[in-house]
Amino acid sequence: MASDAAPATAIAAGSAPEPAAATEARPLLGMGLSALEQWAQQQGQARFRGRQLHDWLYAKGARRLEEVSVLPKAWREGLAATPPTGASDWIGRSRELHRSVARDGTTKLLLGTHDGLSIETVGIPAEGRLTVCVSSQVGCPMACRFCATGKGGLQRSLAVHEVVDQVLSVREVMGERPSHVVFMGMGEPLLNVEAVLEAIDCLCSDLGMAQRQITVSTVGVPRTLPTLAERALERLGRAQFTLAVSLHAPDQRLREELIPTAHAYPIEALLEDCRRYVAITGRRVSFEYILLGGLNDQPRHAAALAQLLRGFQSHVNLIPYNPIEEEEFQRPSPAAVESFRRSLQERHVAVSVRASRGLDADAACGQLRRRLTA
Ligand code: SAH
Repeated sequence: MASDAAPATAIAAGSAPEPAAATEARPLLGMGLSALEQWAQQQGQARFRGRQLHDWLYAKGARRLEEVSVLPKAWREGLAATPPTGASDWIGRSRELHRSVARDGTTKLLLGTHDGLSIETVGIPAEGRLTVCVSSQVGCPMACRFCATGKGGLQRSLAVHEVVDQVLSVREVMGERPSHVVFMGMGEPLLNVEAVLEAIDCLCSDLGMAQRQITVSTVGVPRTLPTLAERALERLGRAQFTLAVSLHAPDQRLREELIPTAHAYPIEALLEDCRRYVAITGRRVSFEYILLGGLNDQPRHAAALAQLLRGFQSHVNLIPYNPIEEEEFQRPSPAAVESFRRSLQERHVAVSVRASRGLDADAACGQLRRRLTA
């Protein structure tokens, strides 16, 4: 859970002042302006030093305290030897371990955490936008059968700074400001709700992104969707990010075959929780549906899916399966994808097909890490 990786007390711009102890165990990255100002004052420095730090952390993308040349040298040197920066001058940035660039510009980074683990993050350029696909955990406990990340289990949840760092890393490598963030990398965001919401807050308050350009994707964890809605309202004041639910099957039996954890969460209960999410947030939900050749891509599945979603203000995003090494699933034929799409459309379901990006850069989530760390 989030609170394992980061202190439960959350610090963000505009939030209530934090007790001094809360700032000691965490790096500077992830802190909002008021928290940084407060921290500078606790350090016996002028308040405006917090604003300078904020500028260097977020606008300039500093990697080490040493680089923040506007700060008094003696203070920087003293800080480098004490928490929260630690002896190594660490402010919360990761190390780039590997970079893989596809012909279409899609850039996958393998980033090393301070405790020696690695996560994937992907920058996906498209006309007028740059989307960052971020991880929320190191590994994932959900074990969906078609997913490369699920093969290795969960190591731990990511802390706020580790999510924000992914966006900064893509910005640095691609030389462009990310416009969109999707929590569709490694991990299950709803097992790390507090850190995910705090990271969203930081991306919006400190990096200037808009909540509407952010998507949180979940395969469904019982009883967490209404909590996500309520906590988002409490913590962010509004819940305008998009919730995407990985449905992948039109009925419980098939869904359990693909997603073992689904047996603890009947599809009707999942949809009921989606309705509650919509009622609380006023936002429509989108559903992801991976198309696995011959398995869930047949006309009868499209008909059943349309029936299941009848009367539900939703959008379906079809994702043709990206092959991973260990599994026997097939990529759907282009004809099957098109007929599935048309079939939903004819039944008045809003539908789109996700274009496959960067297939030559180990497109499926978790593949690069598996290949390089196996
Ligand atoms: N745990 C969350 C977010 C991470 S996965 C979730 O399940 O939604 C993000 C999306 O990528 C999910 O819809 C997931 O089902 C999909 N995905 C995973 N492996 C894939 C693969 N091999 N090909 C295509 N999509 C995949």
